[in-house]
Amino acid sequence: GKPPYDPENIFARILRGEIPCKRVHEDGHALAFHDIAPQAPVHVLVIPKGEWCSAADFHAGAEAEEVAGFWRAVALVARQLGLEETGYRVLSNMGPDAGQEVGHFHVHIFGGRRLGRMVP
Ligand code: 5GP
Repeated sequence: GKPPYDPENIFARILRGEIPCKRVHEDGHALAFHDIAPQAPVHVLVIPKGEWCSAADFHAGAEAEEVAGFWRAVALVARQLGLEETGYRVLSNMGPDAGQEVGHFHVHIFGGRRLGRMVP
């Protein structure tokens, strides 16, 4: 089956302050920071503070307040980055076939240029 949450994953270490990040937002439910290898003029990662491997776990196991708080943070960060007018893309890779590299649920926010059609 699916491996359990690994508390030594890189985003867990960022949450604990063991590894630095370029923070753009933090609240009780979420942390947002710039991706280390940006794929667009704006490329920010938003992660929940809880220990969830992917969105599937996050929705199944998390408190409604935590889920709502997380998505509120995603919208807030996009607005804060000035992407609300121009638009942006939110994406989450889940598991091996999607190429998920870090085992802590995260969404990517891409923006700052025309992104083109997403064909898978
Ligand atoms: P995934 O493929 O899991 O959806 O994406 C993981 C993302 O995390 C990648 O875009 C990668 O560049 C980013 N990343 C990996 N390690 C670090 C890190 O230590 N700091 C930051 N800010 N981003 C990271």
